[in-house]
Amino acid sequence: MEKENSGAKQKLACDVAVIGGGPAGMISAIQAGKEGASVVLIEKNKTLGKKLLITGGGRCNVTNAIFDNRTLAQKYGKKGKFLLSPFSKWSAQDTIDFFESCGMPTKEEALGRVFPQSNLAQSVLDVLIDELENANVKIITDSPVIKIKAVNNKIVSIETADAVINANAFIITTGGTARPETGSSGDGFKWLKKLGHTISAPSVALVPVKTKEAWVHRLQGLSLPNVKITLIDAKARGEARIGKILFTHFGLSGPLVLGMSQAIGEAMREGTPALELDLFPALDQVMLDEKLRAHLAKVQNKKWANALAGFVSPLLAPVLVELSGINPTMPVNIIPRVARIAFVKKLKALTITPTGLLGVEKAIVSSGGVALEEVDFKTMRSQKIENLYLAGDILDFDRPSGGFSLQICWTTGFVAGRSAGVYNVR
Ligand SMILES: Cc1cc2nc3c(=O)[nH]c(=O)nc-3n(C[C@H](O)[C@H](O)[C@H](O)COP(=O)(O)OP(=O)(O)OC[C@H]3O[C@@H](n4cnc5c(N)ncnc54)[C@H](O)[C@@H]3O)c2cc1C
Repeated sequence: MEKENSGAKQKLACDVAVIGGGPAGMISAIQAGKEGASVVLIEKNKTLGKKLLITGGGRCNVTNAIFDNRTLAQKYGKKGKFLLSPFSKWSAQDTIDFFESCGMPTKEEALGRVFPQSNLAQSVLDVLIDELENANVKIITDSPVIKIKAVNNKIVSIETADAVINANAFIITTGGTARPETGSSGDGFKWLKKLGHTISAPSVALVPVKTKEAWVHRLQGLSLPNVKITLIDAKARGEARIGKILFTHFGLSGPLVLGMSQAIGEAMREGTPALELDLFPALDQVMLDEKLRAHLAKVQNKKWANALAGFVSPLLAPVLVELSGINPTMPVNIIPRVARIAFVKKLKALTITPTGLLGVEKAIVSSGGVALEEVDFKTMRSQKIENLYLAGDILDFDRPSGGFSLQICWTTGFVAGRSAGVYNVR
């Protein structure tokens, strides 16, 4: 690393400059350093990994335990094909092996979600910071990059308020636009557009959904692990999906709803869709009626208002009593069969009306980003700028929740760092 203090700004020279100290930037800087390159990592915030620390509710879902790369790639929809080559270099297993080998044991939870055993995102950040130090990466924080200078399809330097940094290769890992207060405010998109890249308009994805019905809001805090949701719009019943939902004071969240939010947003742009919730997806109507009858037989002398305790969660029971339309003071043993069957049907098809999506300030990831066709996925090198590499949320992937966003960061960051690290090393 060369330093010079000429004029107002300090001049730095290195092999690789990485812009953005999130997970993708940190892993790429580590890998470029391991390749023997001198590396500078420049971060806008006072500290690295601000968004990383809020991932997984502060527990950081580092990856998903899918160990077949084709199956893993399919999780990203049609664009998953771009990830096959990078996954062959850094897979979900490699993520687990990396953190475990750095002294951070992991554990697998429901739906293959992998977390640090400590349940702390800080453990993940600690590993990355230690590894940055081991790879001799120079870290510059509190320094937004404000300018990128390119000549003849090559970046020659970048500037912060205090320094001009020259490098042989550059990696941009400034993230998307979700949760801008963490630093990812879309700076990279502006630069890359100027440098000739196509940026598909960033919009929110994996975002909670606002809903109309007051009873939904009253269930705030209730989490149901196994619900089926069907999105119904003017044209058709969409594909039904099963998973975990969380009721909030404004509507619905949880992995299933986050994963459907993009489709819900699109349906709302075209009309007034509805969400149909099946609270008992494992049982058909006859089986559910049998289960309910067996339960009611045990509480025959109770009033309907108190009859559902033990059948569903205590928070849900009074809401379902209200939605049933059955008089709450009616003794269970005189509830007409037709009313019971209508209630069973309701349990399998509760209608909820989405009224909007929460904005970037609540999004987990933003969709949109650099067009994938403009990146060579064998190296993560830009096809527009010869010495530029890209990784992480800046790329236009659709990511389901469950550790899949961070897996893209580890994988593409590793490949970008490895390629940039050997790019014309001085
Ligand atoms: C609430 C929440 C929970 C999440 N939970 C999970 C989870 O459990 N599992 C999962 O897989 N994914 C999760 N995600 C998604 C995951 O956090 C992102 O996919 C990941 O952080 C993207 O990493 P990145 O390095 O590409 O970008 P970022 O993490 O956004 O980092 C980009 C960095 O670049 C810096 N930067 C921006 N502009 C400049 C500039 N001009 N100069 C210098 N630096 C700049 C920013 O300050 C920032 O530090 C979650 C996201 C949110 C918001």
